[in-house]
Amino acid sequence: MTRSQELTPEALAGLRERYRAERERRVRPDGVRQYLGADARFGYYAADPYTAGPTEREPVRDRVDVAVVGGGFGGILAAARLRGQGVARVRVVEKGGDFGGTWYWNRYPGIHCDIESHVYLPMLDETGYVPEWKYAPGEEIRRHAVRIAEKCDLYADALFSTAVTSLTWDDACEAWTVTTDRGDEFRATYAVTATGTLSDLKLPGIPGIEDFEGHTFHTSRWDYAYTGGTPDGGLSGLAGKRVGVVGTGATGVQVVPKLAEDAGHLYVFQRTPSSVDVRANRRTTARDVGADHHGWASARRDNFLRIVSGEDAGEDLVADGWTASAALLEKLLPSFRRPPGDRAAFEAAYEIADAGRMNGIRARVEEIVTDPATADRLKPWYRYACKRPTFSDLYLDAFNRDNVTLVDTADTHGIERMTAHGVVVGGTEYALDCLVFATGFSVGVSGVHSGRLPVTGRGGTLLRDAWAARGPRTLHGFTGNGFPNLIQLGGTQSASSVNYTHVLDEHAVHAAALVAAAEAGDCLVEPSPEAEDAWIASLAENAPDHEWFHAECTPGYYNAEGRGRPNGPTAYPHGAVAFHALLKRWREQSMDEILRPRTAARS
Ligand code: NDP
Repeated sequence: MTRSQELTPEALAGLRERYRAERERRVRPDGVRQYLGADARFGYYAADPYTAGPTEREPVRDRVDVAVVGGGFGGILAAARLRGQGVARVRVVEKGGDFGGTWYWNRYPGIHCDIESHVYLPMLDETGYVPEWKYAPGEEIRRHAVRIAEKCDLYADALFSTAVTSLTWDDACEAWTVTTDRGDEFRATYAVTATGTLSDLKLPGIPGIEDFEGHTFHTSRWDYAYTGGTPDGGLSGLAGKRVGVVGTGATGVQVVPKLAEDAGHLYVFQRTPSSVDVRANRRTTARDVGADHHGWASARRDNFLRIVSGEDAGEDLVADGWTASAALLEKLLPSFRRPPGDRAAFEAAYEIADAGRMNGIRARVEEIVTDPATADRLKPWYRYACKRPTFSDLYLDAFNRDNVTLVDTADTHGIERMTAHGVVVGGTEYALDCLVFATGFSVGVSGVHSGRLPVTGRGGTLLRDAWAARGPRTLHGFTGNGFPNLIQLGGTQSASSVNYTHVLDEHAVHAAALVAAAEAGDCLVEPSPEAEDAWIASLAENAPDHEWFHAECTPGYYNAEGRGRPNGPTAYPHGAVAFHALLKRWREQSMDEILRPRTAARS
């Protein structure tokens, strides 16, 4: 079906059936267990290729005001906002060799942000920086992370190439004891965790993965020593080589055109095609984005958040592929928050809006890709936003090159096996010199509730055990009873959105306000069990219903590989705009409710 075809009841029924069949073709019984983590025998995949061996240093044994776990945008923003509140000693502890998080690790060729840079890069008003492109390259974003860290003097106390191994509350001195894998043991009055959501790379559990004798690496640890070149391309080391790439998600879509330019031959092993919409990246001037007064960036970012949250925003300042979906999102997102009155009418209207959008995406494949069989395999057969939407003006065109072959692996649930010389799909062996894994990241493993980072609160209670026994318990997702002065950023029971740096910045402002209020009153930050109960009850009362949507989607990390996403009080149901307003109101009117007097002297 193409864009021009009418959305008759028969056409819609056909589409429904096609989506169902495509989902069936892809669901695997092993679900999330199909993947391998980069630990133990695969630990070398996670080694840091960007910082030569961590420099020797003495273990740290002092006391700081705040320990921030993680130096990505969440940690940087928390530290920056704490500085803004006058907090003197803020120590960010980061596994990578510098600030940047995602943008430190991901430096693959072609890397760009596909959220507009003027709304994605935080603290533009404060730093006076105006991005030069509508969608910034990764290196510009990484440098902006460093810019904020330098401006806010975050380097002085930071520890890099260091992983926090435990956080333990010490009641006697009312502080956290922080230990790390570099032998540090220091105290912090407050601990802020900003451990990210997609930070642990995953590999496909392909039988024989260890037998391959060629070169392999994951896109989040790009091996420029092997490929040559830079994130802008020029991968001279791949000249004449047979290169494979596994994965066609947001990363694959960006990296394929660059590999295609320089590889002798590129094999793209696809399991599920992405929806690839227009990107139209271009240079922008300060004038284009109205960057002529303080506050321009936060106004633009608010405008984008309103639109992608399905709220009325008046004019559309960003006007891109995300906001073009606003009509669809306006219908979809509120339905997650409250069941639509007339379910059948809602589903019918939603189906038509969705089919229009996805037919447009599929028609674009036909317009660009010249070989009809290849074009057919590149068409996504699922609803918009079942998988993360992608945007590219280069990806589809790469399949028109003679040196690029698309290998569809859907029928075999991915690559069947690997041999010493290459990979096998449908009984055919593809000989390769190099195989790049663009296979994404594990979800839900990096938060403090996962137990990876043991957090021990008052009375020796492990946060992981407490949550396992009674479910997550927080006030607004940030703080919990029994875990004084622990503030979690970007976690469960709060609200999120596609422009994640905006969400993190709102959380950082909130975290800094909590610390400032506690410092001003010489208090601890700790909600009562009653405050937690009330918050959880309010989430449960309005528990979102997104099960119906994800249950019908193709498998991926959005729906736990096809299992669906559980309903329940896991997130604030009215969206990020309402959540940020609620936090602001609460700070103005009710923050005292979680402040309790300190009893211990600071040492
Ligand atoms: P994804 O998890 O989105 O994609 C992984 C890819 O690997 C999928 O295409 C998957 O196929 C494929 N795959 C996994 N196992 C196999 C197998 N055994 N055989 C064949 N294919 C396999 O990871 P990404 O790194 O692409 O993206 C992760 C997230 O990072 C994005 O969703 C986005 O949030 C973020 N990101 C953001 C960018 C930005 O510009 N803002 C840019 C890049 C990433 P299948 O779909 O069938 O599972």
